[in-house]
Amino acid sequence: MTSFYGADESSTYHQPPRRLGAQHPASPEAQLSASHEAAASASTVGQAGPRHGLQLANERAGAASRGARARLANALPPRSTVDAATPGEVPHTEIDLTAAARAVSDLLDALGVDREGEGLADTPGRVARAYAELLTPEPFEATTFPNDEGYDELVLARSIPFSSLCEHHLLPFTGVAHVGYLPGERLLGLSKLARVVTHFSRRLQVQERLTTQVAHWLEGALHPKGVGVVLEGEHACMSLRGIRAAGSVTLTSALVGIVRDDERTRAEFFSLVGCRP
Ligand SMILES: [Zn+2]
Repeated sequence: MTSFYGADESSTYHQPPRRLGAQHPASPEAQLSASHEAAASASTVGQAGPRHGLQLANERAGAASRGARARLANALPPRSTVDAATPGEVPHTEIDLTAAARAVSDLLDALGVDREGEGLADTPGRVARAYAELLTPEPFEATTFPNDEGYDELVLARSIPFSSLCEHHLLPFTGVAHVGYLPGERLLGLSKLARVVTHFSRRLQVQERLTTQVAHWLEGALHPKGVGVVLEGEHACMSLRGIRAAGSVTLTSALVGIVRDDERTRAEFFSLVGCRP
């Protein structure tokens, strides 16, 4: 058993960029500025077509992962408190529902909403509780098993539904995650692939970071030969407002190890996922 909040996760975040960044020729500074550009375009770039969209997403996820890792390395407190420190995550003990409800009332007032009606009477409290729920990750134990049979093919959970909150607009983005790994010495309980996605969804997020967090967690917890994560998300901030591109899907991917470096394994992963690489 590997505790979710154990050393594996934090040590993953503290590792220098070795796989995702190792082959990138750019300097750390160039990578960081690339990630800023990626972050700036993240909420407006959708999927133009499967192939083009995925290539875009690949570049953006790679850049975002390097940027996120650099930010995490700077922002993380000592390991003992790492569970409360990943970006966007809110420790439940710090949620003040009364203050949150008051703030929602203020927001409604500021927006000129007439709160007199019966229907709105409990809305501030309901909104506060809803956000508290959406920002509280469920801890879990990552049950792993020895890979006694030496299984060395991809293990993939496809179309895991997820919903998260975009940190730029506090609006939901929802979709499906495809999470796979090439086992090393340990196998992960299958339901845990979905639980990892849910866990990292329950906080303020951007899709790129959610994708890389799932990949890095699997890498740290299992030390597999490779990891592949693809997310397909529809963002309410893109479909309901702004560009109003309803139905557009944003693809992001994070590939680690053999799934990233070996062409055949990568192609097999994407064909199982149902995407053309
Ligand atoms: Zn947004």
